Amino acid sequence: MSSRTPYQGKDRCFGEYKCSSCGRQWMSGNSWANYGQECKECKINVYPFKQTPLEKPDGLDKSDLNKPHPQNLCEKCKKLGRYCRDSRF
Ligand SMILES: [Zn+2]
Ligand SMILES: [Zn+2]
Repeated sequence: MSSRTPYQGKDRCFGEYKCSSCGRQWMSGNSWANYGQECKECKINVYPFKQTPLEKPDGLDKSDLNKPHPQNLCEKCKKLGRYCRDSRF
């Protein structure tokens, strides 16, 4: 088993990403263990360097609800062929 992400749980979590190519940073409330998201500039898959459980009462998940999830950039969405947030593992 390879762990490509700091978080190895089964649930969605909050992830912070940084593209190694262009240095662009972004965050996502739909972050998963061993799945990355594509940098929209470089079209390369980036794994989160930091992941935080969503249960933490800091409002991150709440704010994320108002933000559309870029399914075309999410490795998990592409693998599932649908919106990853609706999946339960
Ligand atoms: Zn990039
Ligand atoms: Zn997704």
